[in-house]
Amino acid sequence: MTTHSPAAPAAPATSCPVGPRPCYWVEETDGSRWMVPGCLARALDPDAGSCTCLPLHEQLEAMRAELAAAHGAYAGLRHWHDQVLAAVHGHVDGRRIMREAARVM
Ligand SMILES: [Zn+2]
Repeated sequence: MTTHSPAAPAAPATSCPVGPRPCYWVEETDGSRWMVPGCLARALDPDAGSCTCLPLHEQLEAMRAELAAAHGAYAGLRHWHDQVLAAVHGHVDGRRIMREAARVM
């Protein structure tokens, strides 16, 4: 009989799947405004009339996809956590392991 250990979940992605934040305006308390460029067009020329960032509906779509991916990653990690916790509690030294884990936190 062959036993398989469940594989640990993949490490979360460290890069932003959506990319840089799109161009946006910051308004100061004195009413002055300044633009933070998010695309090359405005980074090279802040007064460029055409912004090449994704349109708002595509930004929303990308954010929803990123949120769904984050929820999926969380569910996977939560499942892994629950499996590890159940294994530790089922172990003969489970109480000692949990005490040790709580001590190092
Ligand atoms: Zn832009």
